[in-house]
Amino acid sequence: MFGPGGLNRVCGHAGIEVALVELFRTTGERRYLDQAALFVERRGTGTLPLIEFGRAFAQDDLPVRKADVLRGHAVRALYLAAGAVDVAVETGDLELLDALRTQWDNTVERRTYITGGMGSHHMDEAFGEDFVLPPDRSYCETCAGVASIMFSWRLLLATGDPRHADLIERTLYNIVATSLGEDGRSFFYANTLHQRHPSGDVPLNDDGVCIRGGAGRRQAWYEVSCCPPNLARTLASLGGCLATTTSDGIQIHQYASSTLDAVVAGEPFELDVTTDYPHGGVVTITVRQAPARPASITLRDPEWSQDTRLSLNGAPAEPAGMTLTRTWQPGDRLELTLDLRPRVVRPDHRVDAIRGCVAVRRGPEVLAMESIDLPPSWALEDATLLPDTVTAEHGSVVATARHHRSGEDRTVPLIPYRSWARRGSSAMRVWIPEARD
Ligand SMILES: [Zn+2]
Repeated sequence: MFGPGGLNRVCGHAGIEVALVELFRTTGERRYLDQAALFVERRGTGTLPLIEFGRAFAQDDLPVRKADVLRGHAVRALYLAAGAVDVAVETGDLELLDALRTQWDNTVERRTYITGGMGSHHMDEAFGEDFVLPPDRSYCETCAGVASIMFSWRLLLATGDPRHADLIERTLYNIVATSLGEDGRSFFYANTLHQRHPSGDVPLNDDGVCIRGGAGRRQAWYEVSCCPPNLARTLASLGGCLATTTSDGIQIHQYASSTLDAVVAGEPFELDVTTDYPHGGVVTITVRQAPARPASITLRDPEWSQDTRLSLNGAPAEPAGMTLTRTWQPGDRLELTLDLRPRVVRPDHRVDAIRGCVAVRRGPEVLAMESIDLPPSWALEDATLLPDTVTAEHGSVVATARHHRSGEDRTVPLIPYRSWARRGSSAMRVWIPEARD
């Protein structure tokens, strides 16, 4: 129906494109790829009816290859971008691939929260304009986090650029891991960076089911429950995004205890990875089996690590970039040490909603202040932070908070953002006003 000469329409919600390319890869039938390419080209030519949120809502405002940033409904935009990368890679369309890389760059620089969350509008679940990133109205749908990982993973495969793996990590630890309840039976639909009231203003529909945004606790169900299967799918396929291979060697992108079982230039290359990351910053990689000729192991030096060290069999290693090439022997041991000291982050001056605030990160984790950790007489909105006091103590991060009205100081813990609301209802904020003397 939608083929060449058929209905000149696209789906209102992109998503079929990634599926069609996957079907082409599985079956080898070219018509599936051609149809995906046709849908990508047709999008942005105004074939969908105009709705109240404008043509950008379904990315029908501009052809994919002409756009320089993601806009409109965040999940739609990210699924479309992921599918368009697939089309670009399979058809060798470098112009399209370049456009998507530019869109990724601009979106990450100007339209992405510190957590990796995307989409600041509640009304249309959409990206705001550049630097419209209010923490207390951050939507950051869980599915947009999953879709962002899909887009970044495809660009990582296409380009090898470790920045894509950095964003995948940030999104895994701060969106995917935040959404999911520890019992595996509840989730956040939206992932706000600032919950003002402990109970959360949980809006229920006529059936008593929680509507999408605004929940202060993970809920068993929402009126739209697109996120749980997306979470399940992402967690089930996590092993597939730890590493990649080229004809030269293996590239490790995400650090987790695992066995990497690869074939490099026709020979088995098997590595054991052990770590308690992100609690600790030491990652040990032991060679189990290696090609008989020189092969490379490339590690990711995360954007947040200020002092990354690497040793080989106990001696400091000086890799070219983060790549070590040699004839590996079973038992060779690489040890990567990442810098997990907490870091204070100040926002871009163009993000008006968080001017004068700071955030704290530790490794891939964004930290948060939760009201349950403040003195009972303090309201979260009156707590400010002395950034110079941020320090790590026994693996936890603490800092001095100052009560804005009384001037009273207290040492308080800053918890991983993904742990918020796990000890009951709480007010919470990621961006904390800096204390003034
Ligand atoms: Zn969802």
